[in-house]
Amino acid sequence: MTNVTKSYLPDFEDYCRYLKGVWERVHLTNDGPLVRDLENQLKEYLGVKHLKFCSNGTVVLQMALKALQITKEVITTPFSYCATTNAILWENCTPIFADVHPGDFCIDPAAIEPLITENTQAILATHVYGNACRIEQIQALADKYKLKVIYDGAHAFGAQYNNRSLLSYGDLSTCSFHATKVFHTVEGGCIITNDDEMAHKLHFYRSFGHRNDDYQSIGINAKNSEFHAAMGLCNLPMVDELIAARKQRSALYDSRLDFARLERPSRLPGLQYNYAYYPVLLESEQKLLDVKDALQKEGIFPRRYFYPSLNTLPFIKPFQPCPVSEDVALRVLCLPLYPDLPEEDIERICTIVNEAVYITV
Ligand SMILES: *Cc1c(COP(=O)(O)O)cnc(C)c1O
Repeated sequence: MTNVTKSYLPDFEDYCRYLKGVWERVHLTNDGPLVRDLENQLKEYLGVKHLKFCSNGTVVLQMALKALQITKEVITTPFSYCATTNAILWENCTPIFADVHPGDFCIDPAAIEPLITENTQAILATHVYGNACRIEQIQALADKYKLKVIYDGAHAFGAQYNNRSLLSYGDLSTCSFHATKVFHTVEGGCIITNDDEMAHKLHFYRSFGHRNDDYQSIGINAKNSEFHAAMGLCNLPMVDELIAARKQRSALYDSRLDFARLERPSRLPGLQYNYAYYPVLLESEQKLLDVKDALQKEGIFPRRYFYPSLNTLPFIKPFQPCPVSEDVALRVLCLPLYPDLPEEDIERICTIVNEAVYITV
């Protein structure tokens, strides 16, 4: 069986060495030494000033909205994982969906401006598949209308834009370290800022708003444990190698797939990609279902990702049309991609896909 992704697991003895220290210290969670060590290593790897390691990539979105005091309208992308929209709703803000660019499926700045009202406070955009949003244009709008910018960088670990981590842009950027992502800590995530005061605030938010008897603000439990940090400490030294392995496998897909009947999303110039996913766009939803069926019959499980377009979720009312996103969500399929995916499997997948796209029912 071949799934769309497979989590990387480090050397077992390596992980156990970290656990030995945990057993000696009996410090299991609450800003422990492994959490701090991981944070320092991540800051250095990403070249960012402040980074808080948290429990997942969803709660950091909620913390970002809270920390920026967003309470009204947030212009956001309909083409993302549901966590992006859920965070807005969970914080009792209103998601306003701006359609995506047909080339790269990231939020289209031209679609943002007409949606700005006196109630707009922020833009929350996703670097889809690790492709960069149009950062300069988004920032120009934010400056013009005094809006905050939050990037959901759940897919963006290891990607660079103009020689800077993609996670270093915006007022705040978040990342997910879930087991399925390019870099993972089983469950986990982080929030990144260059602002000292903001970092202090987020530090307190992460652990109930207090440190010992010093109660500073409201807060939530977004801490992560020594066990999760240990997984990150094992995986981080491997991440460049893992990205290189993904790149090699993506190149094989590039050379074997028949692009007469398939499209790939484009990437912005200036992006150094992390090869997080291998999405292909089919001619129609029917073709997508044909390809998916053909692969499934051979024990290969691609994923409709992202599907559905978030503006069509049943709890979003009233309906806000986003024709590009709705169309792409019906036709996009992520093919299996992970560092140790055997090359023979990719060849087999390409043969099945190339045949399935030509069969007309
Ligand atoms: C994975 C993901 C999230 C959620 O991250 P978790 O760590 O699973 O909470 C949010 N946004 C996007 C775009 C994601 O892909």
